[in-house]
Amino acid sequence: MDAIDFARFEVKVRDQALRLAARLVEQRLNRDRDDHAGATLACVRCGGDAGYEGRREKTVVTVLGTMQLTRAYYRCATCRKRFCSRDRALAVVGTSLSPGVVRMTGSAAARVSFAETSALLHDLAGVRIEAKQAERVAEALGEAIGTDEQVHVGSSRAMRRRCIWAWTAPGCPYAHRRLGGVPASRRTVRPGRGK
Ligand SMILES: [Zn+2]
Repeated sequence: MDAIDFARFEVKVRDQALRLAARLVEQRLNRDRDDHAGATLACVRCGGDAGYEGRREKTVVTVLGTMQLTRAYYRCATCRKRFCSRDRALAVVGTSLSPGVVRMTGSAAARVSFAETSALLHDLAGVRIEAKQAERVAEALGEAIGTDEQVHVGSSRAMRRRCIWAWTAPGCPYAHRRLGGVPASRRTVRPGRGK
């Protein structure tokens, strides 16, 4: 086997291993139905009674690949809010990207363009996201950081840059918690050198 064949081989095996891991995690999560809290649940917006309407599927892009996750779906009788409590638990409210992919994307987008971020994630991690998605992630991160810095760290550019790298660091629970509720489409402070 020559060097080129080995390069193809190792990537192919990595992709197969990731696909297998994704299926195992997907099955594990879908077997767990603890998110079904009964016929009604307190609405996350108004606190009224939200009725259970079955399980709904959602496609989530993760560091292991794409997963189809089923979640208990509730609709509020008062304000019509629709929600899945598991989305909050998994930090995928309003987004189809897992926290791990968000972290990777933010880390890359703070350094290179959104198109390069998309290409890097595919080449290095086998994760497929569009440049537009990378831009939305960076904007959401920037907005969250912009809001947070006003409260905690002042507004210096250097501090903002240190913040986004800290937020995208592996295992950072702060980013995980804050990103869970950030709508992907909101315009915000742009971190890094995006575009
Ligand atoms: Zn409600």
